[in-house]
Amino acid sequence: MAEETIFSKIIRQEVPADIIFQDEHVTVFRDIHPQAPTHILIVPNKIIPTVNDVRPEDEVVLGYLFVVAAQIARQEGIAQYGYRLIINCGGDGGQEVNHLHMHLLGGRKLGPMLSK
Ligand code: AMP
Repeated sequence: MAEETIFSKIIRQEVPADIIFQDEHVTVFRDIHPQAPTHILIVPNKIIPTVNDVRPEDEVVLGYLFVVAAQIARQEGIAQYGYRLIINCGGDGGQEVNHLHMHLLGGRKLGPMLSK
């Protein structure tokens, strides 16, 4: 069993979060420390700790993250301007929460992909 993080509590709505969409597969909420005017996390309800833990059976839900990202970007009014999707993995990738998630960032012209 993969270890739970704060995201499991958010998915079960046991701790407060600004949830903007939820269904049986994903939970979408605003990042608590936004790095851009729009900074949203798209999180599979299933715990997959990191990209290293992805299995073939996760293919459908991981594809669905993109479907939801496109839908949320339209809903947030940033689709036509552009945005960035990021999935961090592990220490060097800067992953802080070991529950795989996609960042949706936009609402301003974003800087270079990597600052360092
Ligand atoms: P990562 O570094 O890719 O693991 O990203 C984790 C993200 O989760 C960071 O951008 C944090 O600001 C965000 N985060 C951590 N705790 C919470 C929370 N309780 N509610 C919303 N966002 C959170």
